Amino acid sequence: MIKLSRAPKPDFLTDDKIDELVEEFKNNGTSVWNTESIKTPLLNSSHGKCSYCECDLTEESKYMEVEHFEDKKHNPEKVVIWENLLPSCKKCNGAKSTHDVIAEPILNPYIQDPKEHLAIRMFRMRGLTQLGKDSIDVVGLNNQERLVLKRFEIGSQIADSIEIAWERYSIYKSNGRTQSRNRLINLVEGILLESQPKAIYAATTATVALTDASFSELLGAMKNEDIWNDNLEELLGNAQALILQCA
Ligand SMILES: [Zn+2]
Repeated sequence: MIKLSRAPKPDFLTDDKIDELVEEFKNNGTSVWNTESIKTPLLNSSHGKCSYCECDLTEESKYMEVEHFEDKKHNPEKVVIWENLLPSCKKCNGAKSTHDVIAEPILNPYIQDPKEHLAIRMFRMRGLTQLGKDSIDVVGLNNQERLVLKRFEIGSQIADSIEIAWERYSIYKSNGRTQSRNRLINLVEGILLESQPKAIYAATTATVALTDASFSELLGAMKNEDIWNDNLEELLGNAQALILQCA
């Protein structure tokens, strides 16, 4: 989970329109939130990912659902209140179900910064605060099959990439060729691109990559030897902002 910024409320959601849609939902049970004019800005604001687990919602098998933070069963008057809507995957939405966030609050990544409440250890999330702990349990952030194993796969791929990057660094050191230099830069850029807010499971990837001592050493060596550029610096800064504590 990473901090997200809420997009402006769509123009068509005027007070009158909201009243009309709420009535329609109450009378007919219609999914009045299920329209492109609501779903598209929501999806854009989360970089196309589930706002809880960061899976890709643009994959065919994981179409987004509009999640009602204050659940629609107990808060029908909030079914199209913009601030109450989050883009979510079916699994997170289903796990949260009709959980009462007023009685037992959980993280809303559009409001709190998850890294103040969540840490990661052995590819499992760990709550630093009660809000973090409850979020893990309510949304299922440590679901073994769909998230913990996924994070492990990411960690393993990152470790492989870092090893290969060191090999490329050695090759460049021995031959000094531009081609070798660029092959190294491209690989490091790839690792950093997977740690950007728009990348799937970015909190995990950024944490795994940037807390890896070997990767930090490599980046230090590259900077010292001027195998570095503004683009890498910007990507590194973005990734650093997402790192979770390893506790
Ligand atoms: Zn999810």
